[in-house]
Parts: sequence; C-alpha cells; structure tokens
Amino acid sequence: MRDETKVISGGRRPEWTGPIVNPPVYRASTILFENCAALKDGAGRNADGEFHYGRRGTPTQWALADALTALEPGAEGTMLFPSGVAAIAAALLSVLKSGDELLMVDSVYEPTRAFCRQVLAPMGITTRYYDPLVGAGIADLLSDNTAAIFLESPGSLTFEVQDIPAIVAVAKARGIVTLLDNTWATPLFFPAIAAGVDLSILACTKYVVGHSDAMLGSVTATAAYYPKLRKTAQLFGQHVAPDDAFLGLRGLRTLAVRLKAHEEGALTVARWLDGRPEVAAVLHPALPSCPGHESWVRDFKGSSGLFGFVLAGGDAAARAALIDGLGHFGIGYSWGGFESLALPVEPSSLRTVTNWQAAGPLVRLHIGLEHPDDLIADLERGLARYEACIRNTA
Ligand SMILES: *Cc1c(COP(=O)(O)O)cnc(C)c1O
Repeated sequence: MRDETKVISGGRRPEWTGPIVNPPVYRASTILFENCAALKDGAGRNADGEFHYGRRGTPTQWALADALTALEPGAEGTMLFPSGVAAIAAALLSVLKSGDELLMVDSVYEPTRAFCRQVLAPMGITTRYYDPLVGAGIADLLSDNTAAIFLESPGSLTFEVQDIPAIVAVAKARGIVTLLDNTWATPLFFPAIAAGVDLSILACTKYVVGHSDAMLGSVTATAAYYPKLRKTAQLFGQHVAPDDAFLGLRGLRTLAVRLKAHEEGALTVARWLDGRPEVAAVLHPALPSCPGHESWVRDFKGSSGLFGFVLAGGDAAARAALIDGLGHFGIGYSWGGFESLALPVEPSSLRTVTNWQAAGPLVRLHIGLEHPDDLIADLERGLARYEACIRNTA
C-alpha cells in the first residue's frame, strides 16, 4: 500500500468505527465492566486496543496511534502525547537512566535542549552535543556510558540535513539506541523506523494536525523499545483528549496531498528567493546550498514547507521592516498549518559545540497552501522595505 492510501485507511477498523467513516469522539473516564469477574480479568491486562480506563484511551485515540504506526514500516506501536515536547520528554526518559550519556545534535529544537539541561542533568544523565554534519564521525564521540543518540534532521531553524544512515550504523554496531525528531519530513518523506531509527518522534501539532488548532505529539517505536515507551507514558499519566486525537486523525487523512502542496509552494518561493540580490543564502534541504543537501537527495522522498533564508547584510531592524508588513505571513511560533508564517530567528546563541554564522539576519518561513505567486509578491514588497530600511540607516 502506498502512503497516500495508508493515510486514508489507517486506524479505520470496523470494530472501532462501526458503519461510520470516522471513529466517534468517545469522552471517557470511567469504563464500566460487566461484573466483578470481568473487572478482575481486566486488571491484569494491559494491551493496546482494550477498554480499561479513560487514561488508556478509547478507539478515538487508538485509531490515530494505529494509523501513525502504519506509516512507519517495521514499527511495533505508537504512543500519543499532549504535545511534541511531551513526546520528546517521554521518549528520552524511556531509554535513559542515571549515569547514562546522551549524544544530542547541536541544531536541536531549543525546548529539547532545555529538557536535557533542566531535567536530565539533575537526574545524573549528561548530554554531549555534536555537529549536525558529523556523520560517521559520531563514532569518535562515543564513551562507555553513551546510551542514546538523538537526531533532528533537518534542524528546524538552520536546516542542516544529518547523515542518518551513517549515525544509525555506528549506533547499531555499539547497541546504542537512536531517536529522531522527524517533524519536518514526517514518515511520508522519511520513514525513520525503516531507516533503522528506534524511536521516531513527531510534533503532530505541525503537519499531522495541519490546521493550527490543536497540540499533539507522537512516538512510534520498534518492538525492542515500544514496551518501555508505553510503560513510561503510562507511569507519567500521559493522555490525549479525544477531541484532539480526532483533530489529529482528521488532519492525517489529507496529510499526503497537503504535504505535496507545501512542498511545491515552498520550492517555488525558495528558488525565487535564491535568485534575489537581497538574499545571501537560502537554507532549504532540496537546494544545493543547504548543508547536508546530499543526504537529503539520497535519503528523503520529499521536502516540506519550512525553510530559512539569510539576508545579505542589515540588522534586526531591517529584517523587522521586511517581516512586519507582510500580508500573507503571520508572525508566530509553530508551523505545519494551512497558513504561511514568517519568523525572525537567532540560532547562533543556542549552539554549544558548533559556530553558526551568516552574512546577515535569518528569516524562517513556513509556506502554507496559498498560491505561491501571492506569497512571492508579498515577499517582493518585503524585500523593498528591507532595502529602504538599509538605505535610510546608511
Ligand atoms: C514544534 C516542534 C516541536 C514541539 O512540538 P509542540 O507540539 O509545539 O510541543 C518539536 N520539534 C520540532 C522540530 C518542532 O518544530
């Protein structure tokens, strides 16, 4: 089955949906048992897809988890979380213990870094950062205590594409677990478990939900790691509201067509920006100028709607002149919805082992589902404001 078909059919089991196309939104805490014997029988069981108590979900959540598992060939199961950050936290805690060392990519999403510093470090788990372009060189960074390697590819601010197969090969040879924040590509553009990653994490808030109206996260894992993940999530009492699971499932049904449209729009805008004199560099994995572009060509099936561009000089005020007057781009966090966004970003202060430098200020764009010509006209006016700002201050 192709991915386009899987996102339509995933999780639609007759025992969960009945004759209805979508599973109902079951709002549940108490689940009633037929008699004392059934209650006793259920107490010792803890399996996916069985009614027990609201915290363990209902067909509304199970259908989404099931559909996400189907998108990752080789995976055993998926746990849902109330946000992407909650998914990252649970995935890390499910594989690490006091005394372990974690290798973390230096281009990682900032809240992941904060979690390592403020939660893992006080627990006695040390984090060592590595260059996103390290590739097989990761072998030189391993110590006897290295228990896990966390990847994010591409980085969501600076877009370096990692050599995931090389890192996974090193990890497998040493029995080290790998975790990937796969939010940018989703399993449609990068099936992570099939590539040898052990735990594949999504901020479903982004492309799975797709409409900027719910927070949601997921971790999909192999048979070796799924039981630990599941146990950790249950011990922390993690639960996703049925309404949010429903929104995730609704978004998932159109993920394949939306991603293609985001891809096409983003490539059109990125290539246009690449030809502009006001732009020093475009950081888009599908463009040769992006660090790690060769890895993207070799490993990914597509590119999504998020990328960055570096202005050819100027300061934060000139960048603000560009962004503030945009008509089709909102200014705000998150991405992956149907609408375009523009964000000023400052990655250099976030790094610890690599030096991120650029010719000018960096802007991150999420290209939504508007017509790219309208977005380009908007950006053209923005670049004129940027130029005018530079001329006025010169
Ligand atoms: C947004 C994001 C997250 C966190 O997701 P939330 O649902 O906002 O908690 C994690 N990783 C990446 C790459 C993201 O862009």
